Amino acid sequence: MTPRYPTSPMTPSHPTPAEIEKAIRNVPDFPKPGIQFKDITPVLADARLFSGAIDLLTEKFRPGDVDAVVGIDARGFIFAAAAATHLHAGFVPVRKKGKLPYQTHEQDYALEYGHATIAIHVDALHPGSRVLLIDDLLATGGTAAAAADLVEKLGGKILEVGFLIELSFLNGREKLKGRPIRSLVVY
Ligand code: AMP
Repeated sequence: MTPRYPTSPMTPSHPTPAEIEKAIRNVPDFPKPGIQFKDITPVLADARLFSGAIDLLTEKFRPGDVDAVVGIDARGFIFAAAAATHLHAGFVPVRKKGKLPYQTHEQDYALEYGHATIAIHVDALHPGSRVLLIDDLLATGGTAAAAADLVEKLGGKILEVGFLIELSFLNGREKLKGRPIRSLVVY
């Protein structure tokens, strides 16, 4: 039988992180003046880059190693859901407050101005679940740290936190307090 991993028949050659970086579009002053928005839609639109990004984000693991891939609202869902099918793991959404229909645990975190709240279903993970947490981008780290706290509140064990992009000058890693991090493209 042809081995399915590490390369699938649909991805004849892996893109390098530099190729992924080239496809990321910088949009100045979006959604407000002074923000340089990293637009990942060109990566998603390119079959080789998208599936290659998933291969790289899941590189450390094989099917059976991870019970759940937790994705952060909203662009994190895209990568986390694809990673979940790749690893034969479940997918769990962490959503902005007020979006999940069942009982939730909520976690507040600080933004540059003000604060935000994210939520997870109370029964989304079994205690001891092995979790890969994924978002599209690590900036100040507030969002990912709040999501990591929610996972751990449910008894999940975070194996790794994965990002397509890390804005390293914002020191978001520090907020993740030693949890293992993988980021594919670092600015
Ligand atoms: P933070 O909590 O500061 O780490 O912000 C991370 C979240 O905000 C992620 O879910 C990103 O999708 C989004 N985000 C923050 N800064 C940017 C940016 N420059 N471009 C695109 N998304 C961003």
